[in-house]
Amino acid sequence: MADARGSGEIVVRSFTGGMFAENTYLAACARTGAGILVDPGAATADALRAAEASGVTIEKIVLTHAHLDHVEGIPLARRELPGIPILLHPADLPLYGAAPMQAQMFGVRLEPLPPVDGELVVGETVRFGECALAIRFAPGHAPGHVMLVGDGVALVGDVIFAGSIGRTDLPGGDFATLMRSIREQVLTLPDETTLHSGHGPDTTVGHERTTNPFVTGVYGGGGFA
Ligand SMILES: [Zn+2]
Ligand SMILES: [Zn+2]
Repeated sequence: MADARGSGEIVVRSFTGGMFAENTYLAACARTGAGILVDPGAATADALRAAEASGVTIEKIVLTHAHLDHVEGIPLARRELPGIPILLHPADLPLYGAAPMQAQMFGVRLEPLPPVDGELVVGETVRFGECALAIRFAPGHAPGHVMLVGDGVALVGDVIFAGSIGRTDLPGGDFATLMRSIREQVLTLPDETTLHSGHGPDTTVGHERTTNPFVTGVYGGGGFA
């Protein structure tokens, strides 16, 4: 769908699909062609095709969190890229295990998910080629939600969207916790940082800081500019 180049070497492309209109992301290190697949959802086939066409070698599957719409493409990705590791914050392992139940609730056909291979450790980085994205802990929408930050971009999953925020009424969700994550992990980034969200279009920190009603206080966000 959209191409966005950060200040340096990381190129992020998004692919949208499914009943949840979830954004699957392909982040690639421009200089080496190494890449990661982030939140493989219903549009995973498109992301895999684009990676192949542009010579990007996907080295890891990285999950911001484990809701159904962000993991339903994992079986396909694993079939096409056998052996690549699936990485998740451990606090979202229960959600990962519950994805088949969530699929049943929504009437989505979900193939069995392979086990998670490794933990995303807050404060460490996800490396691909010569590029790296820092792992930031941003719970509230999901208990083990992380953001991937670096090179002028942030893959924020369902923490914040253009003009909105992630829902907090699902199991493990908490509004106050989410608002703290937005305040401490999103609004502390430079205004020009591009935010790639799990749903909807890209935005920037500066745009959300000044116009997002949950951030400006219209909807009780606390008005922490
Ligand atoms: Zn979610
Ligand atoms: Zn989502």
